[in-house]
Amino acid sequence: MSHAVAKCVVCNGENQKPLFAARDRHYGIPGVFTIVRCEGCSLVFLNPMYSDMELAGLYPSDYYAYQDNFKVAPWKRLLKNALCGRVGTKDPYFSKAGRMLDLGCGSGWFLASKRDLGWETFGVEINESAAQLGQTAAGLNIYAGTLAEAQFPASYFDYVRSNHSFEHMTQPGDTLDEIRRVLKPDGKVLIGVPNFESLNAKLFGQYWWYLGAPVHPFTYSAKTIAQLLERHRFHVEHVNYNSDWGGILGSVQIWLNRSNGRKSTEGWLINNRPLRVVCYWAAKVLDALRLGDAIEITATKADA
Ligand SMILES: [Zn+2]
Repeated sequence: MSHAVAKCVVCNGENQKPLFAARDRHYGIPGVFTIVRCEGCSLVFLNPMYSDMELAGLYPSDYYAYQDNFKVAPWKRLLKNALCGRVGTKDPYFSKAGRMLDLGCGSGWFLASKRDLGWETFGVEINESAAQLGQTAAGLNIYAGTLAEAQFPASYFDYVRSNHSFEHMTQPGDTLDEIRRVLKPDGKVLIGVPNFESLNAKLFGQYWWYLGAPVHPFTYSAKTIAQLLERHRFHVEHVNYNSDWGGILGSVQIWLNRSNGRKSTEGWLINNRPLRVVCYWAAKVLDALRLGDAIEITATKADA
């Protein structure tokens, strides 16, 4: 079912080094997944690779239950933000509200917050139940499917955001071309992905929380995501580090669970709330050192 990748999507390089024979640590997806690194540009990816359809079939049926949604009470969200993070992405500056697309928006919590600020908001979400929740619970305009299927007009959006969804996409180059098509000439893009050059990725290797095999077919770094963006005619403006407690606490829990068959969310460590707060602040120190687990790249059209 899966297919071999001969050429790197970032640099066209044909030499790869095997890194891990990785297992899914989060959802109980069976199997061993080979992760390689391109020797030309150091991009990390699954090889053999899946198509979007094949990958969709691997997600557990309750995958969406792991995601953030509207059921969280606003006061709980505020308390959580105050104590340990999830203040959201550091969005690029806009002088006024415009029209935006959140690609991989889930049920659209972020879209709802932008709508409150006067933005005209659109979402694309591959998970149908998440898209439906946003439509019914918040009246949001969320397309259930892929970006290509949504068929937005050309030069339509002032802002396209994709946070913690781009690493799930099996055809990142095609996705960037479509983002470029729907973006206005002076529009801005934000892509938030895990960072393979983070300290935790180096320390924990195949047990790193964000490796996410097989649902993350690609694992980027500030360098490789920038190279991919440039190849698809974007100009990288800024790299922001924005990590959470999961990279530290979650990776240790995965390591503790490495041979007991338990999922990443099972165990005393990951569910210890005071430790989450401590690890959140440790993650902020790593971010300041540009060694954090999560990066947000803002870019514009290169020839705008
Ligand atoms: Zn490469």
